[in-house]
Amino acid sequence: MDTLRPVDHNLPAFSVRVSPRAKRAKLVCSASQGLVVVLPQGSDPSLAGRLVAHHRAWAERVLRRLGASGSRIAQPPAELSLRAVDSVVCLDYVRRAGQELRLNDSGPDRLLISGDQQAPGYLSGLRALLLSWLRRRAARDMPPLVREQSLRSGLACSAVRFRAQRMRWGSCTAAGVLHLNAKLLFLSRELADFVILHELCHTVHMNHSPRFKGLLASHEPDMERLDAALRTAGTMVPALLN
Ligand SMILES: [Zn+2]
Repeated sequence: MDTLRPVDHNLPAFSVRVSPRAKRAKLVCSASQGLVVVLPQGSDPSLAGRLVAHHRAWAERVLRRLGASGSRIAQPPAELSLRAVDSVVCLDYVRRAGQELRLNDSGPDRLLISGDQQAPGYLSGLRALLLSWLRRRAARDMPPLVREQSLRSGLACSAVRFRAQRMRWGSCTAAGVLHLNAKLLFLSRELADFVILHELCHTVHMNHSPRFKGLLASHEPDMERLDAALRTAGTMVPALLN
């Protein structure tokens, strides 16, 4: 159960979740839910405020990086700019009190989201629905990008899978399976291609050794600029889906 605490003058806003499974108290930051203190069942409730006060500098830094201010929680997006595949998907929201949250395609690039917007957990439910839609969209639209980079570089992968991870744009297994983050759809085509190429190079070198970098540079001479651009590319992902 989430309760949003009133904003203390000195502390970022936070909510408290009591978890029967938590072994000890911890702080969790996300753009969709802001700062959350998870407490084991039976904890002293004042522990939450003390914990936030103690880790205040850390929490403020992470919230800033996520693009969420302490008191603001990510809003439902009005549209999704899928830059990598040059599409903009519009989202329409319909309020249906008491009904389960649903997401339906209502046109080629249009989604209809219906359900109870006042229900507890609405934003996290919406986030989960949008992320699973995004994974399907990536599985539909991104394989041609992988094929193109593969043909261009002569580097082949054995399969491609799409996930919606928080931390990584992609990874590659020893068996040559590429795992790509579906959120690459939000990046420019140039950056999405660069991540794909980076992962394809891992089919040859499973590390970031000088030989790996040499291989990547032989296919992408502009890799330093693209690597730097990737470091801030998370800002292209809508806050709710971060
Ligand atoms: Zn890598």
